[in-house]
Amino acid sequence: MIIVKSEGEIATMRRAGMVVASILKTLSKEIKAGMTTHELNDIAVTELARYGATSSFKGYGGFPATLCVSINDEIVHGIPGNRVIREGDIASLDFGAIVDGFHGDAALTVGVGNISPQAKQLLEVTKGALEAGIAVARPGAHLSDISAAVQHYAESRGFSVVREYTGHGIGRKMHEDPPIPNFGSPGHGPVLRKGMTLAIEPMINIGGWKTKVKNNHWTVVTADGSLSAHFEKTIAIADGEAEVLTAWDE
Ligand code: MG
Repeated sequence: MIIVKSEGEIATMRRAGMVVASILKTLSKEIKAGMTTHELNDIAVTELARYGATSSFKGYGGFPATLCVSINDEIVHGIPGNRVIREGDIASLDFGAIVDGFHGDAALTVGVGNISPQAKQLLEVTKGALEAGIAVARPGAHLSDISAAVQHYAESRGFSVVREYTGHGIGRKMHEDPPIPNFGSPGHGPVLRKGMTLAIEPMINIGGWKTKVKNNHWTVVTADGSLSAHFEKTIAIADGEAEVLTAWDE
């Protein structure tokens, strides 16, 4: 069942979203070659405490960190550790925060220093696929209109869409109904209504769409070793265009 939020609940989610967006913006400025992924997680922990918010991720299903850092062929759920970030890497940063009982969830992929033209294009297309999905998230649309828009945007530009992981409803729980696949034909699934809050999160690969999970049982990588990018925003279905609750100026 999709939980429709009241104006007051959305106001709280707006605050959670602002914390998430602001910390992700800080992280995307702070990330540098030579840092470890653990150091990046430390910044997230410090910033979160400064806002008086708590982590959506830490302890979720046993996840050991506050931030997911997924580098190059890693798609999602990368665990911060001793890995040193290098010039030319692309790093997907996924972050969630709880404010007054409500979650915000967002992700972005950043290039570290100079990245290849193909990597640059992957980042642009993944961000564009997210925007294409958000653009059709309006009252009266079907859920799978979002999925179809994301898939069409990415595949028509020569990239593939991860299928085994999806976006999700979000609110008092990080993962609420409905799951939001990033592929599918339009016109299916629940009809969107004002007050629904969704985390849309395309994961796009340069190579094939298939994935595997590393031996740490968390980190998801592309099966063929190709680069992958991940952009995510939490939105609220509004009267017309959706409201992005995790927006930052770029
Ligand atoms: Mg999410």
